[in-house]
Amino acid sequence: MGFFSNLFGSKKEEKKPEEKRICPVCGNNFTGRGMDVHDGVICLDCWELVMDDFEMGRMDDDKELYIAPIKAAVLAKKGELAADKAAKAKKPEACPICGGKMPGFLTPEVKDGYICDECFSKFNRLEEDGETDKALEDYTLKELSTLIARADKQAAANEQRKEQDACPVCGANVSEKSTGSLWGDIKRSVNEEIPTFVVLKDNQKICTGCAEKVRLLYPIQYARKYVGDGEYEGVHIDTLNNITLAEFHKALEEVKVKHQQLEEQYGGCEGVISVGSVARDFVNARTNPNKKEYCIRGKILFGKISTGDLIHAGRDGSGSAMRIERLQQTTGFEEYSGKKVDSVGEGYHAIVTVSEDTSCIYPGDTLIVV
Ligand SMILES: [Zn+2]
Ligand SMILES: [Zn+2]
Ligand SMILES: [Zn+2]
Repeated sequence: MGFFSNLFGSKKEEKKPEEKRICPVCGNNFTGRGMDVHDGVICLDCWELVMDDFEMGRMDDDKELYIAPIKAAVLAKKGELAADKAAKAKKPEACPICGGKMPGFLTPEVKDGYICDECFSKFNRLEEDGETDKALEDYTLKELSTLIARADKQAAANEQRKEQDACPVCGANVSEKSTGSLWGDIKRSVNEEIPTFVVLKDNQKICTGCAEKVRLLYPIQYARKYVGDGEYEGVHIDTLNNITLAEFHKALEEVKVKHQQLEEQYGGCEGVISVGSVARDFVNARTNPNKKEYCIRGKILFGKISTGDLIHAGRDGSGSAMRIERLQQTTGFEEYSGKKVDSVGEGYHAIVTVSEDTSCIYPGDTLIVV
């Protein structure tokens, strides 16, 4: 082979007339690229039909990539498509989802039938809100009707919530109503005048002030939720979302009793911490490696703790006092960091940084703060 043929590419890369092959799945002729499986090459038309089933999720290794199982899947898929087509052949008189009037022409189509304009615009709204990642034509009537029913229910619940203007416990403003002007709304949001509230199980909105009164019994919890691909995401679960207004009123009474008990037990102190975990605090480790700091994660069971307060850690008769150097408020035991604050109140979680060795403190301990 000469210099020039090397330079301009070898002969075998020249375009050959396309070879015609027969797909062992559908029996049709095909040219160009096919899909290699273990015992042959199939046409891309066949492969595209079943690709999702074979590539995603169902089989991690490609041990099923043989002609026979693919052929079975292609046949099943073709049967499904034929059934959808047959179901679609005739446009119904009334919308199969809402029973409404079908449009005269340009009827919106789903996988196995037709829907009315009303249902179509509901779907459009869901799509705009990112509530669906599937196209309309990929929905069956059954799937779409479930989706729309759920959206209707949600919309009704939101409507009910929006109408409520006052906290049913203290009467504070919890209205989400606009001021009526864009500028007014912007000003309100900058001044943080938009009321904050917690939505209870029965869709009642209670103001944050009222919610905080029962945090001792109904804390915000932190959990890690699996979101796929080996990834986890931190989520905050407000346990108040699971009780009704009637139960909230009961909780207000229960928290008084609980408070009285704690008062009798720990009356003479600023606060009480229930320890979740103890670890070295590395925040200042790089700038000052000789100064070791430790952090105690826990929940404030009683009272309020502030920077500068002394934690009493007593064990087996010997006690030591540790000064609270820094404080962060978090919404759960195991969060890595939280909001820097000067004090953390009852029912809330905190990360407490001290400069003394915390080896005498264990998870589950109850620490007194004075
Ligand atoms: Zn084929
Ligand atoms: Zn409809
Ligand atoms: Zn209130």
